[in-house]
Amino acid sequence: MKKELAGRIALVTGASRGIGRAIAIALAGAGADVAVNYRSKADEARKVCREIEKLGRRGIAVQADVGRTTAVAGLVERVQREFGTVAILVNNAGVGRMRTIEEITEEDWDEMLAVNLKAAFLATQAVLPAMRAAGWGRIINISSVAAQMGGVVGPHYAASKAGILGLMRYYAAHLAREGITVNAIAPGPIDTDMLAALPQLRPDLIPVGRLGTAEEVADAALMLARNGYITGQTIGVNGGRYIS
Ligand code: NAP
Repeated sequence: MKKELAGRIALVTGASRGIGRAIAIALAGAGADVAVNYRSKADEARKVCREIEKLGRRGIAVQADVGRTTAVAGLVERVQREFGTVAILVNNAGVGRMRTIEEITEEDWDEMLAVNLKAAFLATQAVLPAMRAAGWGRIINISSVAAQMGGVVGPHYAASKAGILGLMRYYAAHLAREGITVNAIAPGPIDTDMLAALPQLRPDLIPVGRLGTAEEVADAALMLARNGYITGQTIGVNGGRYIS
């Protein structure tokens, strides 16, 4: 049976672990070849590629610190050279270093905004020329319930994740006629390494009574990758923590 995303090339930033890893594997399961970007955990990224290959798809691990402008350009250039036009871009890479009002510095702000927000802008701009020429594309930005509620990580995190939503809306409005949908997913507390560093997000504080799984977020990403009529939306995957 032909898979729905067969022949599509996906690039998932921050796909060596957690939510990005689950999204990369889900997209491969639907037929896409997937570029697995990572910052430092090369072994983990290679393991994800092996999972992708077991599904009969091509996987490539590409190191790039997306907080660096030149690295983002190099990442997209390499994926396009080795695989072809990126049809599905998932801007997932993110950092969540907690800082209180008393602790936060300008440096904390700049680092977080570079990785969590500017990288999504740069990667989107880099993939768009070929995506527009192809007349088909899916851009999925991973935001957070922190964009909607403030959250616990800090003002820099909440602002970066809210910025992702504005970015998504602009591109969605301007690309709708070109076969390109742009959406965001706003996860609540998901059981990953990032969350392990935030012990105050206890499962009993979540209305459904547990943390979410990376696979539950990947389900939403897969739906957005398949669907051509959903654009400009923020999909909450949050266990009822934020009810919109
Ligand atoms: P995670 O387990 O900490 O994994 C982070 C991933 O991003 C890793 O693959 C890491 O690569 C990569 N990464 C980090 N900084 C990078 C950089 N500068 N350049 C390239 N890759 C980078 O995080 P997660 O929980 O899966 O979170 C994924 C996304 O979901 C983030 O945007 C996060 O803000 C968002 N989110 C998470 C939650 C949650 O509860 N977990 C909730 C809402 C939103 P290495 O392995 O090489 O370090």
